[in-house]
Amino acid sequence: MADTPTITRIRLSISTAYLIRHERPVLVDTGAPGDLPRLTAALAAAGVAPADLALVIHTHGHADHVGSSAALRPLTTAPFAIHVLDDFIARSGSNPHSEFTSLEARILLPFVNKPFSPVHCDLIVREEISLAPYGVAGRVIFTPGHTDGSISLLLEDGDVIAGDVLIGGALGGKLQGSRPKWPYTVTSRHQLLASIRRILALKPRQIYVGHGGPLAPADVARWLEQATSHAAATKG
Ligand SMILES: [Zn+2]
Ligand SMILES: [Zn+2]
Repeated sequence: MADTPTITRIRLSISTAYLIRHERPVLVDTGAPGDLPRLTAALAAAGVAPADLALVIHTHGHADHVGSSAALRPLTTAPFAIHVLDDFIARSGSNPHSEFTSLEARILLPFVNKPFSPVHCDLIVREEISLAPYGVAGRVIFTPGHTDGSISLLLEDGDVIAGDVLIGGALGGKLQGSRPKWPYTVTSRHQLLASIRRILALKPRQIYVGHGGPLAPADVARWLEQATSHAAATKG
């Protein structure tokens, strides 16, 4: 494929979606319920109509990432992809309960955990697929821990779009957006740390996340060291 993919951040009401443009455009996440007008306006500003999309892929099944997928669906024939272990969330239209990581999370989560129109994805991701059939030099990697079916996209030029594996800063990235922090909820801290280790082992150039960011790999490595030593200390 010619050139390298370009990433456009699409800031929505409470999360960030991403447009990857290469041979064909691919959309990563669709935001919260009600975000469709903002999403399509951002696509239009980038010269992309929903009908042009080769793929709509979800980093995970939470309301603020699949929330406008049902509304987008009639506007495009692109396949909608999600990992097999998060498909049930997208189909159910509500986030399952998971463990809070902070007081801020406990306070903010009711605003994020809104019910959404269920979406039935037609590309169920069961293995680490290549994005080449959708016109982008890159692949899907499994990065569970925030949810069981969280995935990241590794692009050929080294950029990673990692969903909520980590978040940047506080208040959705409004404060200190480049500072790595735990996502608001986790299904497994152990898995999450392993996923972050895996992302760093890929020597990424930059890590794009669903709230705040982007994050510099060196900052994430420092965060991981602290998080790991803290976990070891509290274990005793
Ligand atoms: Zn999430
Ligand atoms: Zn999120």
